[in-house]
Amino acid sequence: MAALDAIEHDGTDVGVALQQLRRRHDCHPSHLSWAEEALRNYLAARAEHSTEYELDRQASLPAKHPWVAVTDLTASDSRGALRYERTAWGRRYASPDGRIREIWLLSVNSVKPRSDAEIAEAAAVAATGVAATADFGECYRPVKVRDPLPDRVRVVAVGCGDGSRKVLADWEAAEAVEQYARHAKPVLARVVAGDRVNPGSACIDCEGLSSCSQPPRTPFLLGTPRPRRARRRRSVSASDLRTHSACPAKYHLTRVLHLKSAEPESPAIRRGRAVDVWLNEQHRARRSCRTTLLPATLPGLTAEETRTAVRMIAEHAAVCPLDGLAPTEEVEVQARLTAYDPELDVVVIADPDLLYTDSGGWVWRETKTAASRPWEGRPLLEAYPQLALAVLMMSAGVPGGDPRRCRIELELLYPDGSACEELHPHDPETVDEARRAVSALAGPWAPDETFAATPGRGCTGCEALRWCGPGLDHTAGG
Ligand SMILES: [Zn+2]
Repeated sequence: MAALDAIEHDGTDVGVALQQLRRRHDCHPSHLSWAEEALRNYLAARAEHSTEYELDRQASLPAKHPWVAVTDLTASDSRGALRYERTAWGRRYASPDGRIREIWLLSVNSVKPRSDAEIAEAAAVAATGVAATADFGECYRPVKVRDPLPDRVRVVAVGCGDGSRKVLADWEAAEAVEQYARHAKPVLARVVAGDRVNPGSACIDCEGLSSCSQPPRTPFLLGTPRPRRARRRRSVSASDLRTHSACPAKYHLTRVLHLKSAEPESPAIRRGRAVDVWLNEQHRARRSCRTTLLPATLPGLTAEETRTAVRMIAEHAAVCPLDGLAPTEEVEVQARLTAYDPELDVVVIADPDLLYTDSGGWVWRETKTAASRPWEGRPLLEAYPQLALAVLMMSAGVPGGDPRRCRIELELLYPDGSACEELHPHDPETVDEARRAVSALAGPWAPDETFAATPGRGCTGCEALRWCGPGLDHTAGG
């Protein structure tokens, strides 16, 4: 966005903007190499778009200031508000006469799906908003005395990673207003009326965290002290820690920046996901897999892959926890659990495959698919940091209940068998072992600021290889 601002608003030459990008010291080198590609992709998508919309190709002047749709009330409403301001994040363009406006919604990889409410809201802000500016914490003020509203608006999605582009809306202004009333307004009304606490990764930017009831406070959960240099608040999951331990650069690129190359996923990952999706569907409907017919096909898998996946599902049916579970017990599929380590200022996040109650305690079940038995010979909690974190969270009282009645189950599914391991978060030895496993990963993660690549076998098939200098050198050499 900084490079595009320089090009579009300050008239900086593209080559100069790229040089300025490369000189930045506040970004990881691979981040810069991605940004360079993203900038070129975005500009190419813009050029392609203006060829396609040749009839009104003058609709291409960058609009610097955000469009703000303002509703002023004559008396304060039940929330005590007198004014509502709506903006839409993206890049803005308008024709010189102001009759056509476009808002471009950027995503990091490919064009991503957007809800009707999101599209209608972006279109309505473009159709009815005035260019405005505001100081921090102040109301927006219009930047022009007269700012003509457009007759036509477009919402364009662009994927900066691959240059994909999609026109999501191409509407008369009146249509945008109508779509807003139908799709966006009810959603916004629910948002401002909602008072539910929904802890998760958004807690890291929340100024209210220190006085909030959530996430549950779990000091020293990660077993590592505060880094010497203060860091801004972060969130972390077991997968984050495992990825960081494999390669800090991969962690930064894929887990923090969410970059993903367009390379197809490995068959094992696709197969595992297809099995998960199917099991989750059954469990969400509270169906026991033992009594459900096995699927004949699974979306996204070849016939051969389906055969292996269905064998794994059949293995699960024999150990499905919903089989015979009393109807009074609770079942939650992929519930988000959070905990806050105030020492590290870190929000810890876990999404157990399945959570269910059993006689007053919670059972946390993780299901893993594998072609062969990978963990044998390696302590379970080291091989699966997810389980180690589960032990620590449960022993700290997350998701609740009496820890002595809680347990963790690891279900391993192979094409030719299954295994189920149980762990008890009230057992001091298990907790010690879990603490060692987690702090071995969190110790190097917490103070890391450089996220250096550690090239090795993991480079082949790494989603971030494309932007990683050391990884590319390594794979070229090997
Ligand atoms: Zn099941």
